[in-house]
Amino acid sequence: MIIIRVALPIPKRQLFDYQYEGKALAAGIRVAVPFGPREMVGVVWETSDKSEWDISKLKSIEKVLDDSPIFDPVLIKLCSWLAQYYKHSIGDVVQTAMPVALRKGQSSQVKPLEYWTLSDEGKHTDLTGLARAPKQRTALEALHKEDLLKSKAKSDFGPAAIKALSEKALIEAIEKTPSKTPTWQQNLVIQDKPFANVEQAVAISSIEAKLDQYGCFLLDGITGSGKTEVYLQAIEQVLKQGKQVLILVPEIGLTPQTVHRFKYRFGIDVGVLHSGLNNTERLQVWQQSANAQLGIIIGTRSAIFTPMLKPGLLIVDEEHDASYKQQDGLRYHARDLAVMRAREENIPLVLGSATPALETLNNALTGKYQHLKLAQRAGNASLATQHVFDIRQQPLKFGVAQGMLDRMNQHLQQGSQVMLFINRRGYAPALMCHQCGFVEHCKHCDKPFTLHKQLYKLQCHHCGSAKAIPKACQQCHSNELVSMGVGTEQLEQGLANYFPQYSSIRIDSDSARGKNKLDNMLTSINNNEHQILIGTQILSKGHHFPNVTLVLILDVDGALFSADYRAAEHLAQLITQLAGRAGRAEKPGEMWLQTHDPGHPLLQDLINNGYAHFAQYALLERQHAQLPPFTFQALFKAQAISARDAFDFLQQVAQLFNGVDNLDCIGPIPALMEKRQGQFRMQLLLQSAHRSTLQKAIGQHIRQIEGLNLANKIRWSLDIDPQDFS
Ligand code: ADP
Ligand code: ZN
Ligand code: ZN
Repeated sequence: MIIIRVALPIPKRQLFDYQYEGKALAAGIRVAVPFGPREMVGVVWETSDKSEWDISKLKSIEKVLDDSPIFDPVLIKLCSWLAQYYKHSIGDVVQTAMPVALRKGQSSQVKPLEYWTLSDEGKHTDLTGLARAPKQRTALEALHKEDLLKSKAKSDFGPAAIKALSEKALIEAIEKTPSKTPTWQQNLVIQDKPFANVEQAVAISSIEAKLDQYGCFLLDGITGSGKTEVYLQAIEQVLKQGKQVLILVPEIGLTPQTVHRFKYRFGIDVGVLHSGLNNTERLQVWQQSANAQLGIIIGTRSAIFTPMLKPGLLIVDEEHDASYKQQDGLRYHARDLAVMRAREENIPLVLGSATPALETLNNALTGKYQHLKLAQRAGNASLATQHVFDIRQQPLKFGVAQGMLDRMNQHLQQGSQVMLFINRRGYAPALMCHQCGFVEHCKHCDKPFTLHKQLYKLQCHHCGSAKAIPKACQQCHSNELVSMGVGTEQLEQGLANYFPQYSSIRIDSDSARGKNKLDNMLTSINNNEHQILIGTQILSKGHHFPNVTLVLILDVDGALFSADYRAAEHLAQLITQLAGRAGRAEKPGEMWLQTHDPGHPLLQDLINNGYAHFAQYALLERQHAQLPPFTFQALFKAQAISARDAFDFLQQVAQLFNGVDNLDCIGPIPALMEKRQGQFRMQLLLQSAHRSTLQKAIGQHIRQIEGLNLANKIRWSLDIDPQDFS
């Protein structure tokens, strides 16, 4: 009998011991085990002949679910590293790393896929007989050429055509287990590859020189400088070697347009991992990648866990994007994990951005990463000019100054598109009584309700609670209620009235909700169906709008006064990315930023000297202030109905760290957002100039913290390398 130590999906930071009679089980094999009254799916992590518990009382493994491990040795190592570094439960880490279908205990055997093939009759049929059924004819022609048509290609020709052909017995379905030898290498074609410019060529050859070893590159290229083209040409070499490429993109950057660019260049299937997949589809991509049947895999954050049989290259596009950091549960950073993974796989990693995160930039400046720069726009496009527009004492129409409306008019008359950025969804950020000044607040969060006229609701953007728009003031019963400030909805309405001859489209998380909605909107913009584009953050994310020549940023003043030390960095990234949407084709572009503080040093530096200059000074400031990336942080967060409980818990945690050398312990203090969903929120920040000091101190105490009485009474979490202090 042996003892199997199993990683179970529960928050406790430990493995669980079970008895097992039989041959030793390799790490990474799934097992079903009893846990309390339930049965759970866990993953074998260690095998031993001893246990710290009474062996005779250990329960037995109920069932072994896999013949071989579902994780390869590199992924097993990465999971262990994640649990260790983020001080998280290994079982939870393992859960995060595997597809939902496997979490639920489904078979990890590769299922045969259904294909359509020509029947004997189909092989000899005369295609001219199908002249009046063009879709059927195309499908049949494709089958003649390719022999096998994957069942999912049904949709390419329309289900009706496939049904008709099968009813005529011209085609038949067969099942085939995918072959273990990948075919994409033979099918590779290179289409429409432009000549790389000098900067691109240098970047590509630097990456290619290191294809068989670990190396991390920062591809630091201004917007539209052709970073994607550098990826494509580096990928080409990797694919030609028969190796695979994994590409991470930000959450809302994963559009069909993006995927199409990779598919089109190489003419091969691309595995796409996005949130719209069902569990079976997700498992399929996972397995196909694990068997090297896919040459290219593209996905968002969690795709970093996709196994690859023949790994060749990792790419993290827009590496500064906030969506790479998970903000709940296992709070890992996919970019940092990509660095670990590339190292373990012994392959290169390319981090691409026009606005690198200060952490990444620092690693490049200190020589840890190789710094590749693209300073020119590719093709004929030139960078947009950038300007601030002083709105002090200017009347604003729905948030826009007259001078800016005139400028919009000029661009629109020339047949260009205009983009407006505003950081607020809804009609207005508050509703106020004109008589007594009373503002309706969400009682769970102590923040003003946002007015949504279309929904006829007041909604809290922090907890989602909503109520009907009141007819009268709660305090003085006056019915003179006025909206304060401007949101996307009001801006859209105002512009529609002011420019009735042009069509406008609003892109925010309200309007882009639902399957394919965002994609359809992007397509209609690129088809020039709309001239005025209004939106929030979504608009800044790497989309290519060749006909946009004017970008107007309406309200970022709030961010200039934020208490979060990362606010300046994020604002600079946002402004630079937004400016990068203008002038991406032949027509020159310009960006205007409305502000009450036109002389603000951050805005002036950014606009006159660009992001790289801003970032160097921001790094100096961080260094003087002893902030990341020059120090390392960990944030304990606690929230409870009673502020006292949250405070006391963090106070007890703080006591454990008081007196540790070279470790600062700041707090407990209230979070930037003190109250949310009816809970009081407190924080305790640990900071050290040495990562190891921080890691060691937390490692020593985490089990003790987990065992505190209050730990089971309140909600708490630990965030290593926190990005978000709200
Ligand atoms: P980025 O990823 O840096 O924003 P892209 O790779 O999307 O830039 O390139 C911007 C535009 O320039 C695209 O339309 C692309 O096709 C084009 N482009 C890129 N490299 C070249 C090149 N070497 N020659 C001509 N056009 C290029
Ligand atoms: Zn009132
Ligand atoms: Zn609320």
